[in-house]
Amino acid sequence: MAISECPGCTFHIPLPPNLEEGDVMECPDCGAMVKLKSMNPPIFELVKED
Ligand SMILES: [Zn+2]
Repeated sequence: MAISECPGCTFHIPLPPNLEEGDVMECPDCGAMVKLKSMNPPIFELVKED
């Protein structure tokens, strides 16, 4: 399973198998909303909530 680091807390988030580029999920450690910016390598970015 692919793992990518949370940009908010550096927790290593295991990627759900159905997650696709552009999908948003919640970091299980800090609760931040993170978007999968890139698939290869998997990179998360914080979602800015205005
Ligand atoms: Zn986090």
